[in-house]
Amino acid sequence: MARFTLPRDIYYGKGSLETLKTLKGKKAMVVVGGGSMKRFGFLDQAVNYLKEAGMEVELFENVEPDPSVETVMKGAEAMKKFQPDWIVAMGGGSPIDAAKAMWAFYEYPDTTFEQLITPFHFPELRQKAKFAAIPSTSGTATEVTAFSVITDYAKGIKYPLADFNITPDVAIVDPALAETMPQTLTAHTGMDALTHAIEAYVSTLHTPFTDPLALKAIQMVFQYLPASYEGDKEAREQMHYAQCLAGMAFSNALLGIVHSMAHKTGAAFSTGHIPHGCANAIYLPYVIQYNAKNPEALARYAEIARYAGLTGNSDEELMQALRAKIQEFNVKLNIPKDLKDFGIQEAEFKEKVAAIAENAVGDACTGSNPRAITPAQMEQLFRCVYYGTEVDF
Ligand code: FE
Repeated sequence: MARFTLPRDIYYGKGSLETLKTLKGKKAMVVVGGGSMKRFGFLDQAVNYLKEAGMEVELFENVEPDPSVETVMKGAEAMKKFQPDWIVAMGGGSPIDAAKAMWAFYEYPDTTFEQLITPFHFPELRQKAKFAAIPSTSGTATEVTAFSVITDYAKGIKYPLADFNITPDVAIVDPALAETMPQTLTAHTGMDALTHAIEAYVSTLHTPFTDPLALKAIQMVFQYLPASYEGDKEAREQMHYAQCLAGMAFSNALLGIVHSMAHKTGAAFSTGHIPHGCANAIYLPYVIQYNAKNPEALARYAEIARYAGLTGNSDEELMQALRAKIQEFNVKLNIPKDLKDFGIQEAEFKEKVAAIAENAVGDACTGSNPRAITPAQMEQLFRCVYYGTEVDF
């Protein structure tokens, strides 16, 4: 038996934030990030709509990027005091991810992160509250996924939480919130969404339920991301929907080694953080070349290329056309072509690559990649993404 899980309701379109008026409940805890939602007036709007729904509202503000265990515990504590029957998380991926974990600790105060990290073994949520998610960036799609990432800074560990219990009940995909994204964030989150859709389409766990969502998302990103990057509002709106479709696909089909590599390199180098979507965008063309050695994966990349309107006389040519298209996008979006170009120092790369490669193979996303990979192959692949060389093994 297989399972395909999405939020009960997805409201979308300009002004759909208003749907908060229709939620049925007594108390709502609104979880937000650093201030852009407040600055642009969306937080006030959300609070007012919830009050119109007859709810008492309390805020939990200032969730940091890459939210910490401490923030999650503080939020859960605030929820225990306030006893909300709705948790409303709004902003980028971080406040929504944090709120998902707070929800688990609010409902089960005696649980631990160690218990929660076993994939798909959460206790039954919704005993106390339901969950609404409202994204302000167009990439992570956490508003529709079963995932959350929480960082334990003391131990230097990221806890990837995965369970359909934390798939929100309601997602509100209002493009007005995404109009405020700065240009670089638009590029990175857009390429993250493209990576989600492509990895979900070739994942070993892809299904007839996830395939159409992934293909449509890919086609929409190709169609709208460049204009969205240039600030076109109509294109921004379409990107906000495309990333959500990609999220519905990958929440159920999972991902692959582009994400394994991005997870383990994001904070690995002393020269600074590599933003998640930027790392994905750099690695994606190389990983396609690696995975395409598997004939089934090659055929599926060719299907993507055909669906996206690219041409070629064989699956190999179609796959290369897809890679070329992604590389062309990276140039347009000012994304470096390899890690050297990004500014990672060669000496530090050489010193760390073996350990990073081993960590990447152990990442939760490696299991559903269409071609298996050993730590030695992963190290070789990392050398290709560092120097920008062909993947010929
Ligand atoms: Fe991602």
